[in-house]
Amino acid sequence: MTRPWPRRPRLVAGNWKMHKTAPEAAALARELVMLVGGARPRCEIALCPPFPALSAVGEALRGSPLHLGAQNLHPATHGAFTGEVSGLMLAALGCRFVIVGHSERRHGMGENDELVAQKLRAALRDGLTPIVCVGEILAEREADRTAEVLVRQTQAAYAGLDSAAALATVIAYEPVWAIGTGRVATVEQAREAHQILRATLDRVVGQGTAARTGILYGGSVNAANAAALFADEEVDGALVGGASLESASFWRIASAASSATEAG
Ligand code: PEP
Repeated sequence: MTRPWPRRPRLVAGNWKMHKTAPEAAALARELVMLVGGARPRCEIALCPPFPALSAVGEALRGSPLHLGAQNLHPATHGAFTGEVSGLMLAALGCRFVIVGHSERRHGMGENDELVAQKLRAALRDGLTPIVCVGEILAEREADRTAEVLVRQTQAAYAGLDSAAALATVIAYEPVWAIGTGRVATVEQAREAHQILRATLDRVVGQGTAARTGILYGGSVNAANAAALFADEEVDGALVGGASLESASFWRIASAASSATEAG
């Protein structure tokens, strides 16, 4: 089981998706380490490169405050699962985080709520902090079904977990219509969704859990809109795709999160 957060965390995680070869990824990681310099950011920062780049990026991050994360894992620790990677293997490479249930896997690779729940438990078992992604597609928002989807996905992922286990996770609210589209959710939309997630978590796992669980927003976060999102007390950070592929923009987002921690 992973360690629970000592307090509600603030985290900015870069999801590099299927971008960058190992040497390119290591170069980007080194740029970020340079930008951090001697600073002690008041937020956690994680980089989630593709599997083949994990080792090189881990090497580049060594001795820095930045964490290594992966984008996916298989529920089993080992076995006849051609092409898959286990949490045990990721932990052995130095990963601290793993993204679970990203919409590109739910909607593009057929991952259902049950598989996401298995992966969440596997991450905890293998000593990783899962970043559990939930979010509605555009048609669901337009049909006023956002709350229903968020409750279903959260309930399915967390049912049966105790508070200590839930506190060793991070949730990412990622409206699918905002991912990679340049159409960011408003602060009000993010706040409302995060409040639904907190209420669901408290109901499913136990009262008081949600107040100590980090909930990130993800979906077209960039250097220009991050500070406004982080200023809302419901938003504990961001899962960042496109804007994490360039060191200056990602660093500006992380800096905005760090400043929000100081202000809060
Ligand atoms: C993501 O991939 O999780 C994401 C939020 O992407 P983008 O920031 O590009 O919308």
